[in-house]
Amino acid sequence: MENTINFKGWVDAFELTHPMVIAGPCSAETEDQVIQIAQQLKDSDVSVFRAGIWKPRTRPGGFEGVGAIGLKWMQKAKAETGLLLATEVANAAHVKLAIEHDIDILWIGARTTVNPFAVQEIADALKGSDKIVLVKNPVNPDLGLWIGAIERLYNAGITKLGAIHRGFSTYEKTIYRNIPEWQIAIELQSRYPKLPIFCDPSHITGNREMILEVSQQALDLNYNGLMIETHTDPENAWSDAAQQVTPTKLKEIFKDLRIRKLTTDADGYNEEMQKLRRDIDFTDGKLFDLLGNRMQIAEKMGALKKEENIAILQSQRWNEVFKKMLEMGEARGLTQDFVERIFKAIHQESITHQGKMMK
Ligand code: PEP
Ligand code: MN
Repeated sequence: MENTINFKGWVDAFELTHPMVIAGPCSAETEDQVIQIAQQLKDSDVSVFRAGIWKPRTRPGGFEGVGAIGLKWMQKAKAETGLLLATEVANAAHVKLAIEHDIDILWIGARTTVNPFAVQEIADALKGSDKIVLVKNPVNPDLGLWIGAIERLYNAGITKLGAIHRGFSTYEKTIYRNIPEWQIAIELQSRYPKLPIFCDPSHITGNREMILEVSQQALDLNYNGLMIETHTDPENAWSDAAQQVTPTKLKEIFKDLRIRKLTTDADGYNEEMQKLRRDIDFTDGKLFDLLGNRMQIAEKMGALKKEENIAILQSQRWNEVFKKMLEMGEARGLTQDFVERIFKAIHQESITHQGKMMK
């Protein structure tokens, strides 16, 4: 996929002075519910009304969406409010119905992005249309799979493209429903700087209390927009009740969000920033020198262990070192999660270097 094409053109066409917002219920439930929510979102920072019509449920027996009838309710909402419409599509039949009902933005859900057959079917069904298509990240943290799905649409001639970052599932329970793994989205942005990226804090957090915090993190990373699940009666929503916010709450969130500028001409800013960037580059260089030194020491240890035929991994010693690292990290204001990840990676690399000497 060419990364020079400005896939953001369709976002720029909105001429917004703030990141674009897509809001609406997880699922369309009844005609009244759809119309009421859309009415309350009109005249706010929201540009696009979302509603799920076909719901991919992890297990059978849950509410699987109202189906095509909901598209009619959405069309009515559009006629009454002027909001554009977005819904999730998971197969060619969905695409056909969405196009017939004038849906403006089609998104591919996280459970569909993981399936190249389904994505290809959707891409084929979209050939020749000029719909906006947004691709949610796959449920598992795999950037290649995410890019692959976007490429299938690009190859089908879709140029109004974008990505939605909705977090990744984990076996361990965390404070998030789906952990953000921001670095994966940052990597996507740096490979395709002209591809717009949206954040879906609702599915990342799974919890309405954290929507503001995660939305702010996304804006700090220069995301182009947000998709936030919004319901007039969140507690009684037919799906994802814990994470939806009311339209009133959504407006409060907009008031509290700080929109960052990309740059400024303010006096002194650029000089000071340049100096800080030089300091960061210098520090990064030192970090790499130190890491290189550390691996040389590991190799010497490997050579010594080989002479005495000693196993590489000494669990007792590693546990002691690790405990000390956590304490040292804490004293320097580093989060435990960061120290754990970085130290496990360094330890793994050390084992590889020691192993090289054992051969
Ligand atoms: C949704 O947006 O309601 C949805 C099902 O999202 P995801 O594909 O991210 O789980
Ligand atoms: Mn949902």
